[in-house]
Amino acid sequence: MKIEKIDHLGIAVPSIDGGKEFWTGVLGLELEGSETVEEQKVTTAFFPVGESEVELLESTAPDGPVAKFIEKKGAGFQHVAFRVADIEEALAELKEKGVKLIDQTPRIGAGGAKIAFLHPKATGGILVELCQRD
Ligand code: ZN
Repeated sequence: MKIEKIDHLGIAVPSIDGGKEFWTGVLGLELEGSETVEEQKVTTAFFPVGESEVELLESTAPDGPVAKFIEKKGAGFQHVAFRVADIEEALAELKEKGVKLIDQTPRIGAGGAKIAFLHPKATGGILVELCQRD
């Protein structure tokens, strides 16, 4: 598996509008776009930072994964996403190594990217996302 770069950092926020005050108002980052992924019960907003991005995540429902995360751990850093050239190949390699995965096969995330999450139990507690953009 070849990791090309950090694609983005996912930050769980109670509200994207509230979060914008810091990321845009204080840091001066520009909002590139916002998108709701119904399947994940989340609205995402992307702020490019050089070759990577900050992704703010706001839950659209109280039982969504981001809402549950905030309930358990509080708002803040939620996941790191690594860009890979070939996500199918990366997942096959991880399975071969016996790494616990949340997603056995890629699904479509924000921006049409192919994404898959590794289980935090396999990563020392961090939620890791693999991401392939064509
Ligand atoms: Zn992400």
